[in-house]
Amino acid sequence: MMNVIDRHESEVRGYVRNFPVVFDRAEGACLYDVEGRRYLDFFAGAGALNYGHNHPRIKTHLLDYIERDGITHGLDLATRAKSEFMQRFHEVILEPRGMDYRLQFPGPTGTNAVEAALKLARKVTGREKIVSFTNAFHGMTLGSLAVTGNAFKRSGAGVTLTLGDTMPFYNYFGDDTDTLEYMDRLLCDNGSGMDKPAAVIVETVQAEGGINVASTEWLQGLEALCRRHDILLIVDDIQAGCGRTGSFFSFEEAGISPDIVCLSKSLSGYGLPLALTLIKPEHDQWEPGEHNGTFRGNNHAFVTATAALGFWENDEFAAEIQRKSRILRDRLEEIARCYPEAFVEVRGRGMMQGLVCRDHDLPRALSEAAFARGLIHETAGPDDEVSKYMPALTISDEELHEGLDLIAGSAEAVLGRAQDGDTLDIAV
Ligand code: PLP
Repeated sequence: MMNVIDRHESEVRGYVRNFPVVFDRAEGACLYDVEGRRYLDFFAGAGALNYGHNHPRIKTHLLDYIERDGITHGLDLATRAKSEFMQRFHEVILEPRGMDYRLQFPGPTGTNAVEAALKLARKVTGREKIVSFTNAFHGMTLGSLAVTGNAFKRSGAGVTLTLGDTMPFYNYFGDDTDTLEYMDRLLCDNGSGMDKPAAVIVETVQAEGGINVASTEWLQGLEALCRRHDILLIVDDIQAGCGRTGSFFSFEEAGISPDIVCLSKSLSGYGLPLALTLIKPEHDQWEPGEHNGTFRGNNHAFVTATAALGFWENDEFAAEIQRKSRILRDRLEEIARCYPEAFVEVRGRGMMQGLVCRDHDLPRALSEAAFARGLIHETAGPDDEVSKYMPALTISDEELHEGLDLIAGSAEAVLGRAQDGDTLDIAV
């Protein structure tokens, strides 16, 4: 079966090269290949599976809906599934947080939510430039790519990526430089050469960019800067949101109020494509149909997303994420302490944590060693210098510890041998 993929799938295929088995089933925090081998999943669909694979409660709702021939495709027509989702999203997420946003459903992927946000910010302000940050990742379509940092991904565009201005993210120059002061200076100075942007787009935790965590104060300062200069603030919560960093929105802790918020990945709760661009009512200046797309109303995803909102009806789930995050963080710190020559630090928030490696070949070697032991995790950062760990938020304590034992075992195998003089480029 792998032969078929190798023979027929485009060279562009990526993750399949790192985990070269044929997967067949999945349940909770685990995947199973066609041979029946179990893999603990600390990758979680790059953040699209926060509630694990095929969550039984969510699945029941979807099966019932399919069974009764509920609408599958409906463009942006009103459907029961859509209106129920919107109602529940208001009741469970927006109202308890005192938030007022209009809901735009763009095409179903993260980059669709970002494109809609950028386009709207330009329309609302009449300005063209968008400020993004070093190591940002916002998607692969041209608008999103223009505000993405990674040189390799940018070079794939094949055209000049324009209308973005890159600013240094929190701590980019280390503790001693306030990157907001730098940006503020450029915006205030008539001689800086910097055009006033329509918006700033930011991830509170840069997931693909190396799990770089912005401080609460920095996010508050960024919001204040945007207000001072009359610039819209867009938070891309596509990977850090939906509970990944501890609360439904990753910016809740900072208490900021973005003008536009992008959500996707785990919004459907089931790995189904669904994206949402939240817009403050005063900025909802679209003309009817001005931005559209065939797959705006993924009704199966509305059904699963509504069911997934059940996790957020009270504070219990958030408390559970915090508790499990401490286990994840503490164990990774223990591992980092064992190999100070290999690891710089542990970075992350909530259930998105990473081991930052001195040798940039180490994360891939660790991932290979973990895969050989039955654990899937990816790497992050512009040079793949971070080992990234993102288990399902619903993972049991037993599975979490099992995965962490496998990470410790992989580190021991890779670094033990490296210390004996082997290179890190190991065949596991
Ligand atoms: N924004 C962020 C923060 C992401 O992490 C991603 C994907 O990893 C995207 C946007 C793009 O989402 P998609 O791949 O669904 O287009």
